Amino acid sequence: PVPPPTNFLRQIIEADLAQGTHAQKRWAGSPGDAAHQAGGAVDTARIRTRFPPEPNGYLHVGHAKSICLNFGLARNYGGVCHLRFDDTNPEKEEQEYVDGIIDAVRWLGFDWRDTNGRENLYWASSYFDFMYRAAEYLIEAGLAYVDEQTAEEMRASRGDFGKPGVNSPFRERSPVENLRRFHEMRAGLHADGAMVLRAKIDMASPNINLRDPAIYRIKHAEHHATGNRWCIYPMYTFAHPIEDALECITHSICTLEFEDQRPFYDWLLDHLADGGLIARPQPRQYEFARLNLTYVLTSKRKLKHLVDSGTVSGWDDPRMPTIVGLRRRGYTPASIRAFCERIGVTKDYAWIDYATLDGCLREDLEAQAPRAMAVLEPLKLVLTNWDEVMGAGHLEPCELPALPHATEGAAPPVRRFLLGREAWIEREDFAEAPPKGYKRLFVGNRVRLKGGYVIECTGAARDATGAVTEVHAVVLADTKSGTPGADSVKARAAITWVGVHDGLAAEVRLYDRLFTDPQPDAGGKDYLALLNPDSLKTVRAWVEPSLAAARPDDKFQFERHGYFVADRQDHAAGRLVFNRITALKDSWGK
Ligand code: ATP
Ligand code: MG
Ligand code: MG
Repeated sequence: PVPPPTNFLRQIIEADLAQGTHAQKRWAGSPGDAAHQAGGAVDTARIRTRFPPEPNGYLHVGHAKSICLNFGLARNYGGVCHLRFDDTNPEKEEQEYVDGIIDAVRWLGFDWRDTNGRENLYWASSYFDFMYRAAEYLIEAGLAYVDEQTAEEMRASRGDFGKPGVNSPFRERSPVENLRRFHEMRAGLHADGAMVLRAKIDMASPNINLRDPAIYRIKHAEHHATGNRWCIYPMYTFAHPIEDALECITHSICTLEFEDQRPFYDWLLDHLADGGLIARPQPRQYEFARLNLTYVLTSKRKLKHLVDSGTVSGWDDPRMPTIVGLRRRGYTPASIRAFCERIGVTKDYAWIDYATLDGCLREDLEAQAPRAMAVLEPLKLVLTNWDEVMGAGHLEPCELPALPHATEGAAPPVRRFLLGREAWIEREDFAEAPPKGYKRLFVGNRVRLKGGYVIECTGAARDATGAVTEVHAVVLADTKSGTPGADSVKARAAITWVGVHDGLAAEVRLYDRLFTDPQPDAGGKDYLALLNPDSLKTVRAWVEPSLAAARPDDKFQFERHGYFVADRQDHAAGRLVFNRITALKDSWGK
C-alpha cells in the first residue's frame, strides 16, 4: 500500500520514535489506579494518542478529522489511540451521546483496543481523586491559591493584551490557609462562585492564559458518573493535561485554539512531575488547524440548536454534517477517511470545499455501487406499434451490467427488466420545441431505450391545459441492444427508462446543502436566516425491479442521476425510500 503523505505530525512522531523519546513510558494497571501511578511494566517505544470528546452532542465531520488523525497515527506507527470521554463538566452529558460517539468511532473503522486486547476507553471523571490530590500538591508547593474575588473582580484584574494584570489580594495567603479553604470548598461549605482555586503563575505574563488561571471551581451539581460525591470540579485546562499524563499519552493532538494553552499544559505537568505525581517524559501537546467545511456548521452547540428548533428532523437528518447524518445520507466510512487524508493536516486556517467530500464519495462508489435506472420526474412513453411489431402484450426481457467493470473471471452480474408497450421516461427527455443540439425525444428523432430498442418519436398526447401527458413513439424492430441488428439504425442518444409493467414505485429524497451561504456561521452571521428553503425535495419515482432487493444502507448509482442509498430508517421491502447522496459530477460549485 502507498504510505500516507507525510505531515508535520508524522515528522515529529518519526523523530521521537527514532530517538526513543517515549521508551521510558510506564504503563500498568488502569490510569488512576494506585498500581498505575506507582508505575509498572515498561511499555515499548510506542506512541499513544487520544480522541477526547465531551459527550454533549453527536460528533460531526470536524471530529471525524480528529478521529482519523489520532487513530490513524496510532495505527500507522504501531501505537494505541484512547477513546476518552471528557466528562469533567457535570452538566450536559447524556448516555445517548456517549453511545453515539462509540458508534461513530467504530463505524469510521477505528478501535481503541490494543494488541493485548485492553479496552482503552476512559472517563476523565475517574481521575477526580487524582486531580484533587494534584491540586492539593500545587497548594502545598505554593503554586496555587484560593481566590475569593468575585468573577467580576477577577475579570477586571486579569488585564488585557499589552496591559498586565493585577495581583489578587488573596494571592499571598499561606499554603496552610489555602489548603484549609480548598478543603472547605470540597466539603460544600461555600456557594457556587464564592471562590475558585487558581494556579499561581504570573499576572504580568504576555500570555493571558498564564495569568493565574482558575483550576477548580465550586459547582453544586450532580455528575452522571460520580453523583453527588463532588461539589467542586476541575477546569478543562487543568483536567486535560492530567488525563493525558495518567494515560501515558505521548502526543496530545488538538486544534489550534489551544495553542495558547500549551504553556500552561507544560507548566502544570512539569510541576506535577517535579512533585513525583506523574512520570517523565510528560505528554506533549501539538496543534493543527480545525476543519472548516463550506456550507456546513461544525459546532455541536449550533447543530444541537438545529435539532432542538426542529429545523432538521434529528441529529441523523441526512442534511446534517454529523457522522450519523453523513451515514444516513449514504457517505461511506472509506469516503470520509479518504477525505480526511486528502485535506491533510496543517497549521493553516483554510476552508475546505464541500465538493472535496463528494469527490471522495464518488471515488469510493464508482467501482462498487451497482447501477440501476430510476425515473425521477416520470412521463409516460407509449410505443404505439408495439403489439404489431412485437406481438400483443409481449414483454421483452432486457439486461444491463450491474457493475461497470466486471471482476475478472467471474460472470458479470446483470440486472434484468422487461420492456413492454409502455415505459416511464424523464420528462426532460422529451421536447416539443427542441433547443439547438437537443438529441433526445422530439418528433422525428430516434433514440435508444438503454438496454432495449431504438424508437422514433411520433407525437404526444395532451390534457385540457395543453400539458403533455404521454409521448408517443414507434419501436424499430431488430434493433435491440446486444443483437446483430443493434447498429443497423443510428440513434442520436440513449435514454434511461423504467418499464410500466415491472417498475417499482419509490420515494426519492433529493437533498441539497442546508445553507445558502458557504460560511453560514462565520463572522457572527445568523445562520438560521441562511437556511436553504430547497434543501429537501421529495419525489415519487419509478425504479427498475432489481431494486426490490435493496436493503437499508445499500448504495447504488442511478444512471445519470447520481449516487443513492436506501434510507437506513425508512426504507423497507415494499416501501422503497432512497436518499440522493450526491449527483454524478460536482454540482456544488454552480
Ligand atoms: P464543538 O465546538 O463542536 O463542541 P469541541 O471541540 O468542543 O467541538 P469536543 O468534544 O471537545 O468538541 O471535541 C473532541 C475533539 O475533536 C477535540 O480534540 C477537538 O479538538 C476535535 N475537534 C472538534 N472540532 C473539530 C474540527 N472542526 N476539526 C478538527 N478537530 C475538531
Ligand atoms: Mg471541547
Ligand atoms: Mg464544544
